Amino acid sequence: MAALDFALVSPPRMPSRSSLPTTLWAATAVDDRPWPRLEGSLRADVAIIGGGYTGCAAALAAAERGAKTVLVEAQQIGWGASGRSGGQVIPGLKYDPDEIDTMFGPELGPRVTAAVGGVADEVFGLVDKHGIACDAVRKGWLQPAISARTLALVERRAEQWSRRGADVAVLDRDTTAALIGSRIYRGSWIDRRAGHVQPLAYVRGLAAAASRAGATVLTRSPATALRPRDGRWRIDTPSGEIVADTVVIGTNAHTDVLWPGLSRTVVPMVSFQAATGPLPPDFGASVLPEGQCVSDTRRLLWYYRRDAGGRLVMGGRAPFRDDLGAADAVHLRAAVDRLYPQLASVPFETYWSGRVAMTKDSIPHLHELAPRLWAGLGYNGRGVGLATLFGRWLAELALGASPADIPYPITPMRPIRGYVFTRAVARGLIRYYRLRDRLEAR
Ligand SMILES: Cc1cc2nc3c(=O)[nH]c(=O)nc-3n(C[C@H](O)[C@H](O)[C@H](O)COP(=O)(O)OP(=O)(O)OC[C@H]3O[C@@H](n4cnc5c(N)ncnc54)[C@H](O)[C@@H]3O)c2cc1C
Repeated sequence: MAALDFALVSPPRMPSRSSLPTTLWAATAVDDRPWPRLEGSLRADVAIIGGGYTGCAAALAAAERGAKTVLVEAQQIGWGASGRSGGQVIPGLKYDPDEIDTMFGPELGPRVTAAVGGVADEVFGLVDKHGIACDAVRKGWLQPAISARTLALVERRAEQWSRRGADVAVLDRDTTAALIGSRIYRGSWIDRRAGHVQPLAYVRGLAAAASRAGATVLTRSPATALRPRDGRWRIDTPSGEIVADTVVIGTNAHTDVLWPGLSRTVVPMVSFQAATGPLPPDFGASVLPEGQCVSDTRRLLWYYRRDAGGRLVMGGRAPFRDDLGAADAVHLRAAVDRLYPQLASVPFETYWSGRVAMTKDSIPHLHELAPRLWAGLGYNGRGVGLATLFGRWLAELALGASPADIPYPITPMRPIRGYVFTRAVARGLIRYYRLRDRLEAR
């Protein structure tokens, strides 16, 4: 069975180099600490694999609860999606609250909605508590509608959150145009709980806070084997080993063959971003003047915002390659030209991409893979908030919390059947969605 697992898995290529990719965030974040590599043997109550939001939030929560905590990251803190994301902190799942009630039932549904609706409080609470310098802005998130159909959808969404007491509102066409600085949308809803952070600075801040709380943070230390030993877990890296009572895996779209089958529970998709230089006031004064972040209702959504330096950061779906560059930014350029014709002469200066982990059911997953071995992954592009929350939950579970105390289902790991075909299916869907979006947004 294990051999079959490995034959079917197409594990992500883990580059041998440990430097961060060239991104706007690497150029503008506070410097990282020079974290050591694992050398020799360590003993831990909780060992954490992966140094993104999931792993770093888990390490912080575990260390704050007094556990001897060790985190190993294969590359650098924030090397994965966490250091490359759009930094938009968006409450909720892909599903609306009424749908969540139906999916999870009358007891668990409202608890799930309250928890995932609280992710921005979780993120901005950690930023405040630990003094994380990450250009945090909490002025809300806009989801503008590209069509009459999607306007009805966002109105329903806002009504459902409003009924549950969230600070949200439906905005008409003119108000939406004034906040975005573009008249291409029919209207929108604003979720005022939301905001944005400099994503790499945020994850570095979580790692630093975890270290101050007593966690040992190790980089350039890929876990190459994970196996039970004498009632505990043993993690091997090329230059050392950790023996831990409990292990948390937070490797998301970079999940490799460490735990057979886990990588086949998510489909890694590529998301691509490009940033201009700081917009000159005569071009930029009307572009998102109040500092909200945006992701629209396209099936292949456009997500964008200004950064602390006044640049426009534009993101969208891209080809399935890890080495995207300027030549691949045609769709992103077309998006900017459509939204902001006045920026026609303002070029993109930086390009970068990263991997988003999608799941078949479009919700993230929490698993107990084996006794005292926990994993959280599959944030479907909403990981800034959700992975931070899941990291805390994973730490609580690792330290003995009852699954009943976690307001989210803990499910058995279910590798996607026919996994080898998922890329081909996803490619076809992307072409189809692009066409549907184009027709709908006319
Ligand atoms: C371009 C882009 C834009 C995005 N924009 C947004 C956004 O605006 N808002 C939002 O909410 N979400 C966004 N996302 C999604 C979000 O970034 C992710 O959901 C989130 O970062 C996942 O965090 P993580 O810690 O689980 O995984 P990651 O940050 O990917 O971290 C996993 C880490 O595990 C490490 N690893 C893997 N295998 C091993 C091993 N064997 N041993 C040790 N370490 C290992 C990897 O090196 C990696 O650093 C975006 C993603 C991308 C790529």
